[in-house]
Amino acid sequence: MPDETLSPTQDNAPLPEGDKTQQIAQLAEKASVCVACDLAESRTNVVFGDGNPLSPLVIIGEGPGETEDKTGRPFVGRAGKLLDECLRECGILRKHIYITNVVRCRPTLEEGGRLKNRPPRADEAKTCIELWLDPTLSVIQPLVILCLGAPAANTIIKKGFKMMQERGQFFPTKYARHAIAGLHPAYILRQQGEAYDAARASLVADIDAARKKVIEAKKEPPATLF
Ligand code: URA
Repeated sequence: MPDETLSPTQDNAPLPEGDKTQQIAQLAEKASVCVACDLAESRTNVVFGDGNPLSPLVIIGEGPGETEDKTGRPFVGRAGKLLDECLRECGILRKHIYITNVVRCRPTLEEGGRLKNRPPRADEAKTCIELWLDPTLSVIQPLVILCLGAPAANTIIKKGFKMMQERGQFFPTKYARHAIAGLHPAYILRQQGEAYDAARASLVADIDAARKKVIEAKKEPPATLF
């Protein structure tokens, strides 16, 4: 059942809502021709983000993979399908959230004549965060961010985030009042048997915790400058 608690609110939206959608579209258009780092040379498409820029909940992954690079949309490969299943178990559809990545172009390395995914380098991540992730989050101003995997948690929550010890806990951040990290669905797909079931269940629990935190955060008084 779709979760109406994730519908947009006024209290996290200093910009009129039409402006948020328009500003994200303008950022995405500028990003589509970005050549600020080497990833531009090997990408097919810039994968800017997807979903609802008016949502109080933003989900952030690591970077596009092969299917995302081909389609220009985040989380549409195997990991994305698992994420969608876990979201649905919490009553959440893509249209209820905004979803993006630390980097917007697929990081690859060549092995045996084939392109493979690799983690983004620190310099690639720094450039992409400054140019595109920071402005995206400044426009959306989410109440809650869910980081998928350590690269997103290191970017949004703190450097040296310890996924196994600190996942499922909320941290205050400059990007959103509340941020939580969960296991990356690609990591979950590499587990087997009971380890897979436990990892998958932990992601569902973290998504549900983020959903509930949105409900709580909507009742919090708005932040003031003084
Ligand atoms: N993994 C990610 O971190 N992001 C995507 O968009 C797809 C897979």
